[in-house]
Amino acid sequence: MNRPFHGSPARVDDPASGPWMGLDRVGLGERFVQWGYNPVHAGPVLRSLLTRGALMEPDGSARWPQGLRERLEEGLAAEEAEVIHRAEAPDGTVKLLLRFPDGATVESVLMPDYRSDRAAGCLSSQVGCAMGCDFCATAQSFFRRNLTVVEILHQFLALRREAVALGRRLQTVVFMGMGEPLLNLTAVLGAVRRIGDNALGGLGWRQITVSTVGIVPGIESLDHSGLNVNLAVSLHAPDEETRRQLLPMARHFPVGDILAAADRFQSRRPQPVVIQYCLLDGVNDSPAHAEGLARLFRDRGMHVNLLRYNPTGIGLRGIAYRPSPEPVVEVFGEILRRSGVVAHVRRSRGQGIDAACGQLRRTAG
Ligand code: SF4
Repeated sequence: MNRPFHGSPARVDDPASGPWMGLDRVGLGERFVQWGYNPVHAGPVLRSLLTRGALMEPDGSARWPQGLRERLEEGLAAEEAEVIHRAEAPDGTVKLLLRFPDGATVESVLMPDYRSDRAAGCLSSQVGCAMGCDFCATAQSFFRRNLTVVEILHQFLALRREAVALGRRLQTVVFMGMGEPLLNLTAVLGAVRRIGDNALGGLGWRQITVSTVGIVPGIESLDHSGLNVNLAVSLHAPDEETRRQLLPMARHFPVGDILAAADRFQSRRPQPVVIQYCLLDGVNDSPAHAEGLARLFRDRGMHVNLLRYNPTGIGLRGIAYRPSPEPVVEVFGEILRRSGVVAHVRRSRGQGIDAACGQLRRTAG
């Protein structure tokens, strides 16, 4: 794989001296022993954090020993991600701009479900992005650095708290915010292992989706991780020529190689891989494109999500993309479904506050 796609290496969260929030149950138990406390409290501490987004001490005999809570809070305060901007769209979508101690900022989004007690979260994996997808606002803020496990967890906790305040439960998370998650896989997997720890009241693996623009070695590494998370692949075109116009990284990973890696991933899991396809007026939305897509997916058992484009202004190549008109979207979907492909048109959320797919930036929008 070529060097430009590696980004900077993930900062490893040191189990001996790094932030306590980056530790798993065993690591936190060891930290408690170092601090002179019983390691048995590690599980309840992490459970309260992962389920409520805050340190909630139990009553009665299960109370934490004197001084433990203060010590934990001290550690949290030193690492805390500050929410410096919050915007709420008319559809209830909430966008948070978080700032980390070094001044780096990322956006995270909470999307209310149609069920009144649930919500989905969208997490960022990098500060900016090096992939340069032409229709994406994040691409315009370029790549600054990878996020750490702790920084990804801070986003998760901020969304948990936001959901609790709105009377909803954070039910699913997707790594579809800023950045390419598979180029920061060490940190993303570290966060996923904590978020997906069912014993701590976190989400299950199946409630977590990792999305990629098609980094083949990353898909293979995620596959070999053995984690039963969902995989989403942003394809956006069935042919190399159109894809390379939209996604500069496409010249490194042909569609055939991406789908072969996705086939292997899917063959080891019960759930289908999801293909993301953003429909752009006059670019990738012709019947010929739909037929090409149908040929790729009619026998693969993968699901295709047709996404409405959320305008982000002029792209890096100087093109102002437009969303495909409604009748074109209908015809496109119909061609796929007639060929036996499971295809859904996805609603766009949070447009009024630039919180929709492809609209996230490093500053408040
Ligand atoms: S669409 Fe995703 S991978 Fe592409 S530039 Fe935007 S954030 Fe990066």
